[in-house]
Amino acid sequence: MSQDYYEILGVEKTASKDEIKRAFRQLARKYHPDVNDAPDAEEKFKQLGKAYEVLSDDEKRAVYDRYGEQGINQQGFGQSQFDFGFGGLDEIFSSLFGDFDFGGFGGGRQSDPNAPSRGSDLRLDLEIDFEEAFTGTEKDIEIDHLEECKRCSGSGAEPGSKKTTCQTCGGRGQVQRTTRTMMGHFTQVTPCPNCQGSGTVIESPCRECKGEGRLNTKKKISLKIPKGVESGVKMRVSQAGDAGRNGGPSGDLYVVVYVKEHEVFQRDGANIYFAQPVSVAQAVLGDNLTIPTMEGETVLKLHPSSQHGEVFKVKNQGLPYLNNPSQRGDLFVKIDVMMPKDLSKEEQKLYQQLLELEKKKGEANPLLEKIKSKFANVK
Ligand SMILES: [Zn+2]
Ligand SMILES: [Zn+2]
Repeated sequence: MSQDYYEILGVEKTASKDEIKRAFRQLARKYHPDVNDAPDAEEKFKQLGKAYEVLSDDEKRAVYDRYGEQGINQQGFGQSQFDFGFGGLDEIFSSLFGDFDFGGFGGGRQSDPNAPSRGSDLRLDLEIDFEEAFTGTEKDIEIDHLEECKRCSGSGAEPGSKKTTCQTCGGRGQVQRTTRTMMGHFTQVTPCPNCQGSGTVIESPCRECKGEGRLNTKKKISLKIPKGVESGVKMRVSQAGDAGRNGGPSGDLYVVVYVKEHEVFQRDGANIYFAQPVSVAQAVLGDNLTIPTMEGETVLKLHPSSQHGEVFKVKNQGLPYLNNPSQRGDLFVKIDVMMPKDLSKEEQKLYQQLLELEKKKGEANPLLEKIKSKFANVK
């Protein structure tokens, strides 16, 4: 479901770059997930980011104006709705807002280095077979993420040793440096070089995590993929992202599913499509066709005088609906009448007979008839 980018930002199609930027800033502040608890805030925020990304770039905007969202996706600008990385948003955000501080969004800046902060979200792209989208499946995946160090329980201090208040900054995490310039005294506040801004110093750092409090760890997760899943579906594995700091919660893992293409079938949601080649004789006389389905085969009754391009619907032979897996979509079979090639002598003879029969009928070319009547009108 694509939405108009101009509508998302609430600006006219003729809006200047400044107007677009202003609109984005205003709305992004409103919908930022850290300040807006509404369940759809995150989705809205992402839409805003995407709309802004395109409309703030002259080249992308020109493509979008001409070809719409599809144009953007096809031009190798890449970003389908689900490709929009977490990193990307954060970047746009900090480039726009500078020092505007939302707290720990996506593991970003924070004013108190010792306050609990949430771990980063992670993303994993998972490819599955078309058949697996039909049946649903269970996948064992392995992820690399940061876990709290068990040896020091995340404190970073070797068991038995303590964290002490930093002597250099007195626990504030910042130091002031005053320099005298031509303009007068110039006071600069910088992170404390002794404690790197944390305000505390570890007596002796944990041997396991070297004082980091978190360790890079591989973890196996068994993931249930539901029937009817489509490319782009994003599944959240709660708390499987990086561990938080200072007792903050873990981030989440997002698994983005990609369904491989099928050799024969194409899909649109729960419906399946394919083209079935038939011979001229089959199309003319009708036939019982054995056609492929997801579960094997079925018989399709082709009526006499079936047309090239005609579409037959086989009910309930599509994929399960993701939100209602007991129901299935339909299978659509398009008839592809193949013109015969490399005729045998006998076939040639039969076609010859057909042709002579047609000539005997003596039907006039309807196109010529039309043209003749036009000539008559001119005269
Ligand atoms: Zn440790
Ligand atoms: Zn310090």
